[in-house]
Amino acid sequence: MNTEQAEELELSIVIPLYNERDNLVPLEAELEKTLPELGLSYEIVLIDDGSTDGSAHLVRELQTVNPHIRLIRFGNNHGQTAAFWAGFKKARGKIIITMDADLQNSPADIPLLLEKMGSYDVVCGWRHKRNDPWIRKISSKIANSIRNALSAETIADTGCSLKAFRRECFDNIRLYNGLHRFFPTLMKMEGFKVTQVKVGHYPRVHGVSKYGIGNRALVAFLDLLAIRWMKKRWINYDIVEDN
Ligand code: UDP
Ligand code: MG
Repeated sequence: MNTEQAEELELSIVIPLYNERDNLVPLEAELEKTLPELGLSYEIVLIDDGSTDGSAHLVRELQTVNPHIRLIRFGNNHGQTAAFWAGFKKARGKIIITMDADLQNSPADIPLLLEKMGSYDVVCGWRHKRNDPWIRKISSKIANSIRNALSAETIADTGCSLKAFRRECFDNIRLYNGLHRFFPTLMKMEGFKVTQVKVGHYPRVHGVSKYGIGNRALVAFLDLLAIRWMKKRWINYDIVEDN
């Protein structure tokens, strides 16, 4: 994947958002508490995935006081994977940090991820104490164990958006809707070193979750079968002669 900008930065924070207006001011404030202290050049790439609640307008207002913020806006809602992908293509950072816009992830955990980036290519946040309704917690536990069993994985929590990636991780990847739930497996298939680190998880204070059990469980299961197939059919050849 070629980034479209020449100027390189240390860090891109890539955040998809869909109707998250009331979360944006506290999100920007939390990010600005942590990011300047890292001593790294950075940008905050906000991808508005077709919001209809005035989120984009508010982002533009935040841009007038915070030059680190970039807005990529979709004309319609194309889903979280599409928003991530558009963000990755625009990102100028050598390291990409992904997170949600609803402050269920805390920007204060970003340094934890960066510490591990010295020895890994991908660091996945692990919400070891989930702050979600019990039905979500149980379904997520079941989903994670089915996923790990069927795809021979060991990732405790792939649904946590808070993750860090070297930008090269996306060079050869073609994403499809839903595949953001399988980033660790996709990256391992590409030969990257993946680890996980425990991070905080907080209740959603403003706005509503865009997913329910119904619109996630079956879709994610079908996606899992696709990933399992891809893993099985992974091509790994060795050339011993080339004349
Ligand atoms: N999101 C998005 N497009 C969508 C659905 C979600 O950009 O079609 C964003 C959403 O605004 C949030 C993140 O993806 O920043 C995760 O969504 P949500 O918090 O609803 O998921 P949950 O945490 O409930 O699994
Ligand atoms: Mg959320």
